[in-house]
Amino acid sequence: MRIFTRQRHVNEEALGLHALNDLPESRRERVARHLSGCTHCRGKYREAEELIHILRVAAKRTSLGAVLN
Ligand SMILES: [Zn+2]
Repeated sequence: MRIFTRQRHVNEEALGLHALNDLPESRRERVARHLSGCTHCRGKYREAEELIHILRVAAKRTSLGAVLN
């Protein structure tokens, strides 16, 4: 799995997995290092976190809860 786009930013899939704390250790470090120096990706990461939060709240009301938790 690639974690960087051609523009050398973190791609959406990797940002999402990072927000879910679901990236392998080595990739997590590279993404975290990039995020610490890139406001563009930090903004997108925050959006991913918000989306995951919304999904978790919604999932509590459905059977999706078992998948996301
Ligand atoms: Zn970036």
